[in-house]
Amino acid sequence: ESVIVAIDGPSGTGKSSTSKAVAAKLGLSYLDTGAQYRAITWWMITNGVDVDDADVVASAAGKPTIVSGTDPSHPTITVDGVDASGPIRTQEVTSKVSAVSAVPEVRTRITELQRSIAASAEHGIVVEGRDIGTTVLPDADLKIFLTASPEARAARRSGELKGADVHATREALIKRDAADSSRKTSPLAKADDAVEVDTTQLTLQQVIECVVTLVEE
Ligand code: C5P
Repeated sequence: ESVIVAIDGPSGTGKSSTSKAVAAKLGLSYLDTGAQYRAITWWMITNGVDVDDADVVASAAGKPTIVSGTDPSHPTITVDGVDASGPIRTQEVTSKVSAVSAVPEVRTRITELQRSIAASAEHGIVVEGRDIGTTVLPDADLKIFLTASPEARAARRSGELKGADVHATREALIKRDAADSSRKTSPLAKADDAVEVDTTQLTLQQVIECVVTLVEE
């Protein structure tokens, strides 16, 4: 039988590393929904769409074709057939993704895509994001909400960005979380039936083991 796991939380909580490892261990597919929002944002920037104009973003939302590869050991993402895995991680995309993903037409489009990917995953799937347990897959078999102190999250992000300024990273992170938490459509939120895991004092291995145990229970 197939199992659906929703893993939500702000950035820097170890969501991606945890989700990929859990999926690989359990033989499940993996979907990074943040990558999809980054991909549509990258397409908008590349095509000269003013991302601060919600009406323009809304009318362009249906244009790009976004395809996600769901192998946890080799996740991929393409936009109109072009590999977008590098460009979606730039600072420019990171600074604009919250505005684009707050537009309801963008969320409707990406949410439909996510549901169809989850429905076609043969052995089940781990889906990570901000609104998976609350909106995208409210019937998921297991919902996890990862948290960590702002300091721990900024330190992890700066580590990933290799030497980036911790203070600047912390400010940018707090700003993005605030935008993601306060938008009107499907904000970053913990589902009532989600298990909250505070990762501040845990190693990645400990978080992975914790989630695997919860899936197997
Ligand atoms: O997870 P990641 O940091 O790559 O997500 C990038 C952005 O995509 C988030 O800051 C948020 O604006 C948006 N996002 C979203 N809903 C999701 C996943 C990501 O709005 N389920």
